[in-house]
Amino acid sequence: MPIRLTFIAACMTLACASIARAAAETTAHAMPETMDMLRHAIATPTEEGKDKVPEFARHLADKLESAGFTKSDIEIIPVGRTAALVAHYRGSGKGKPILLSAHMDVVTANPKDWTRDPFALIEENGYLYGRGTADMKTDVITLVETLMRFKREGFVPGREMILVFSGDEETDMASTRELAKRYHDAEFLLNADAGGGTYDDHLTPVDYEIQAAEKTYADFLLTATSPGGHSSEPAPGNAIYRLNKALDHVEAYAFPVQHNDITLASLKAKGEHSKGLLAQAMIRFSADPDDAAAAATISADPAYVGQLRTTCVATMIDGGHALNALPQRATANINCRIFPDVSIDSVEATLNTVVADPTVKITVQLPPPVPSPPSPLRADIVAAVTSTVHERFPGVQIVPGMSSGASDSLYFRNAGVPSYGVSPSFGKANDSFSHGLNEKLLATEVPAALDFWHSLLTKLAK
Ligand SMILES: [Zn+2]
Repeated sequence: MPIRLTFIAACMTLACASIARAAAETTAHAMPETMDMLRHAIATPTEEGKDKVPEFARHLADKLESAGFTKSDIEIIPVGRTAALVAHYRGSGKGKPILLSAHMDVVTANPKDWTRDPFALIEENGYLYGRGTADMKTDVITLVETLMRFKREGFVPGREMILVFSGDEETDMASTRELAKRYHDAEFLLNADAGGGTYDDHLTPVDYEIQAAEKTYADFLLTATSPGGHSSEPAPGNAIYRLNKALDHVEAYAFPVQHNDITLASLKAKGEHSKGLLAQAMIRFSADPDDAAAAATISADPAYVGQLRTTCVATMIDGGHALNALPQRATANINCRIFPDVSIDSVEATLNTVVADPTVKITVQLPPPVPSPPSPLRADIVAAVTSTVHERFPGVQIVPGMSSGASDSLYFRNAGVPSYGVSPSFGKANDSFSHGLNEKLLATEVPAALDFWHSLLTKLAK
């Protein structure tokens, strides 16, 4: 607190030039507490089946209460064996609240396979190692710490901010559905679990993505059956051959090219930022989505084909029951990433047409896929995120993005809350091993996250 007062005084005499520095000073002050909380968070194995989420939520609730949140502003919602945590930071105005989203659970980690203990926070060579360092306990803790800091600083936002932490994002998302059911009347949601910045191999920032849309995840089961019989008497209609033909057709088919505001803005920014044929095609496509040659060039790159269309691909097959018997059944799983605003039914109908064999049955796998609409690129959010990112990395390009998988934003977007993935962290491509072995996060990203949230929320909740 004294540090802050010093800078408020400085602000009056130096034309407020040191606001950002004031936040940085406070961040240094907040770091020891943040690291203590992160150490505790990593040591609490909130993976499926261990039932540790309610205990973790209770711990975070106690921390918030110690910083001045009242008991009535905090709620732990039990959902099956897990729980959601809600904390209200009341505002002075009457506007709709801003939701702050993260998930408290982690993907299962088997200590035998890890180089270090996954449930101990270990710092080595500038990285923090441990399950959840990247996905996403650092975000959980830096968000909680930021709200605690705001309380200590006496910050009164114009808008209410509500922490909505889920407890099973990595598995069933039942707690997410519960939160979205209760908190659908919100201005917008900021999700720390998507978006974020990219460094190149030399740790130079490349760009920063605001995630504003997600494709729908759906699995379809293709099933071919035949009467079977002795393999010494091959008969027409063999289920394996029919399934094989059906899969050939799926492979050969490309869903129509599509676009939305987010993908056009994203391709334009990415194209302008790089060189070569792909970059030129991105620029041409963003100016004219009917440019078929540009679409073909982009679609030829596996990293970008999903930005242009719904994709469906065979991921698993199973068939036959004995080496010396004709098959009675053959199945294949087709995994689809469906463009926002395209219905599951229409994709199923397309697959039926493409397979062109009514004896091959196509069914949607459970749980039922949930589509979500893209969120509009609000100028106020883009401006606030841009200026916050630029406080750390002036001039770095801000790119809207559509991701190919789901986060908690899915259910909030589905419930009508525009949702934006704004992870505070920068990282090298494919460097974090989220969900995998030896998960890690650059240690620089912890104080950066505290700066980010403090600055961004001050702007958006004022
Ligand atoms: Zn996550």
